[in-house]
Amino acid sequence: MRSDAGCKRSCPILRSPHSGDITRHARRRYHTGMTAPLIDIGINLTHDSFDADRPEVLARARASGLVHLVITGASLDGSEQALALARSDPAFLSATAGIHPHYASELTSATHARLLAVLDQPDVKAAGECGLDYFRDYSPRADQRRAFEWQVERAIERQRPLFLHQRDAHGDFLAVLKAAGPLPPAVAHCFTGSRAEAEDYLALGLHIGITGWICDERRGQHLLEVVRNIPADRLMIETDGPYLLPRTLHPKPASRRNEPAFLPEVARVVAAARGEPAATIALTSTQTATRFFRLDLPSVPAD
Ligand SMILES: [Zn+2]
Repeated sequence: MRSDAGCKRSCPILRSPHSGDITRHARRRYHTGMTAPLIDIGINLTHDSFDADRPEVLARARASGLVHLVITGASLDGSEQALALARSDPAFLSATAGIHPHYASELTSATHARLLAVLDQPDVKAAGECGLDYFRDYSPRADQRRAFEWQVERAIERQRPLFLHQRDAHGDFLAVLKAAGPLPPAVAHCFTGSRAEAEDYLALGLHIGITGWICDERRGQHLLEVVRNIPADRLMIETDGPYLLPRTLHPKPASRRNEPAFLPEVARVVAAARGEPAATIALTSTQTATRFFRLDLPSVPAD
């Protein structure tokens, strides 16, 4: 899996994720500063760093107010594994199916059908992770573009939401999307770019996913301004765990591994930057994610 980093405390929960008046609960802050409901739209839960304690990770996610996780599929094997995990608890988990630009060379005419077989399953809610990554260049750029274009075309044909990755490739990335024609709902996940890049994406109709990069005082400060200008109905949040542990977490977990239970910290920092209560961003980002991924979550109030 990726190693570029981007892209334990447990707390007694005051309610179960599937009961009670979630709107009322969403408006309160828990004693640990947690907010609910939350959806982690990007978690690399198939990563081997979760192999030893995945059930505990999921239990801590629920206890932190998460109502759903979208497991990122980033390779052929990874997408199949993400689907298998999603099927183990479809009310709480979904998957995406795609080939990350690092693995672009995996996608050939011999493997197209294998990826589509995963993409077409109902527990898979988006095509991707796909895109361009010229920061690492693990796959040749020509392969990256070919794999990206092919996945965008398939998503358009199927009208599946797109889960997009871009690093140091803004111009080419935008060009591929514009050339593809009218897009289904699409999210630029783990957005780390400039205000101008965010404006380009918003103008194209994209959603934007914000991770704990915004909690990084060394390289994420500009995002504090960027998030102020993202409409609530285009803004979603994610951990991108096990990468990108929020640097503002106190106390710092003994492990450097990020996990969904730390999503409230991303919500807190995004909310502070926007001058909103954390409960507001929790609720609006969850409503946006529910709509975007077409999730069936009776516990999430419609807006
Ligand atoms: Zn990514």
